[in-house]
Amino acid sequence: MKLALIGFGQAGGKIVDEFVAYERRAGLDIFSAPVAVNTAKTDLHGLEHVPTDNRVLVGQARVKGHGVGADNELGAEIAEQDIDEIQSALDGISVHEVDAFLIVAGLGGGTGSGGAPVLAKHLKRIYTEPVFGLGVLPAKDEGGIYTLNAARSFQTFVREADNVLVFDNDAWRKTGESMRGGYEAINREIVRRFGMLFGAGETVGNDRVAESVVDSSEIINTLAGGGVSTVGYAAESVERSGDGGLFSRVDHRGGADGLDETNTTNRITSLVRKAALGRLTLPCDLSGTERSLLVVGGPPAHLNRKGIERGRSWLEEETGSMEVRGGDYPLPDSDTVAGAVLFSGVHKVPRIKDLQRVAIEARENIDRRQAESEDNLDRLLEDGAEEISPLY
Ligand code: GDP
Repeated sequence: MKLALIGFGQAGGKIVDEFVAYERRAGLDIFSAPVAVNTAKTDLHGLEHVPTDNRVLVGQARVKGHGVGADNELGAEIAEQDIDEIQSALDGISVHEVDAFLIVAGLGGGTGSGGAPVLAKHLKRIYTEPVFGLGVLPAKDEGGIYTLNAARSFQTFVREADNVLVFDNDAWRKTGESMRGGYEAINREIVRRFGMLFGAGETVGNDRVAESVVDSSEIINTLAGGGVSTVGYAAESVERSGDGGLFSRVDHRGGADGLDETNTTNRITSLVRKAALGRLTLPCDLSGTERSLLVVGGPPAHLNRKGIERGRSWLEEETGSMEVRGGDYPLPDSDTVAGAVLFSGVHKVPRIKDLQRVAIEARENIDRRQAESEDNLDRLLEDGAEEISPLY
């Protein structure tokens, strides 16, 4: 599908940058004029792939290019005030060519956390195309303020956007690795998963339009209806023959080899299970899923229709929902077979409840500290007999 991609804040910009790199590597044409918006000048400078003209510095009058710290209320205010500047950057997009908007942001900070919901609201007012969000949750050890920011932003983003696809940094943190050090790997993981979904159905080169593709309307219909989504993914390498062509006994024997076909079918079915039962971008209980979409990509000879059908039936059982779409994504030059499953409208998500609980604690803690701090200052300045009078 074709997306108008907007990265808001540092994480949003970096992930969009990675999406563009992925698109180029894969020879795809998915993203129409990617845009990065930030209040911090240095973050915009640090990007490599988003064209310079599409980098929008907002809030200069308020924060002079230095960012908003982790103040997401300020982030939201700035986005509202400078919405015209963001809109100007989006005017370069041929909207009739895009299927949807995708706003990417880390929800724990200030700029993206505050700005992404404001932009979603704005785009929905202007355009008829759906507006989706890709929201990144902070790791638990980032602290209370990040959790509080994320909980408030998440609630607002889900209300404003047509669907929010979630990636939970906490679920992907490697033990012993600092979060910052791990971002590169995490961003690649984000792009691998979401890139495969959004890339399905798009042309690779000129002459390789997939036969039985996942149409962009199927992705949109899976996301439509709102709520929160998560993505599962699994990949397996496939052998190549000695002459450099793709190995496929099924292919060489015209697909008549029953044994091999059974093998391919089983491999796909277990790939789908691995994708769904492995680590999701947002861990949740699948039985609460409203709609899902299965995409199986790889060399055409390995994309066994029966396997995909079986995978879909299994997903119906697992999610308890009959609304399971699916299709294949032929990638002739690939040496892996990969399965990506989009679970949309998930509502059994303990992580979100946990996030809200910690956010409430953080809010109470901040309020208590603030009250204490005022008392402490009063006590410090008090001279007992009130013999010292202020200057004016
Ligand atoms: P902003 O610039 O004010 O929007 O804030 P940041 O984007 O710097 O940070 C917001 C949150 O995003 C942080 O609390 C982290 O959880 C997360 N984050 C920051 N950078 C990255 C990144 O490169 N990748 C990922 N996955 N998360 C990030």
